[in-house]
Amino acid sequence: MPDCLFCQIASGQIPAKVVHQDDDTVAFEDINPQAPTHLLVIPRKHIPTLNDLAPEDDLLMGKLTRTAARLAKERGIAGPGWRAVMNANREAGQTVFHIHLHLLGGRTMRWPPG
Ligand code: AMP
Ligand code: ZN
Repeated sequence: MPDCLFCQIASGQIPAKVVHQDDDTVAFEDINPQAPTHLLVIPRKHIPTLNDLAPEDDLLMGKLTRTAARLAKERGIAGPGWRAVMNANREAGQTVFHIHLHLLGGRTMRWPPG
């Protein structure tokens, strides 16, 4: 997906504050942070929304989640608490159509989300 912002970040064509990368996932600082820690964890594979997941993505999504948990641990927010958010489509607030996990922490979160 040549015109996808997050594909371009994953391939290094567009700069970002990358904090983790491996063969399957990339994590970087959100450009407009909503909490002291606000990372985006993405698969390298272009998947537009959670609605587009296929059975073959099961392992990948497990890896994505575990990458987020490891980053939360590294940042010292695993104990106090952190939130994983994945918005699917416009009413949920998705603006970039390459799936991403928001890893938020470092402050008390409210529930329900707005
Ligand atoms: P969502 O609204 O769930 O699709 O989340 C998209 C997120 O991407 C937002 O939190 C934006 O602040 C973030 N974002 C947009 N452009 C960039 C960028 N170039 N680098 C890092 N984060 C970005
Ligand atoms: Zn993409």
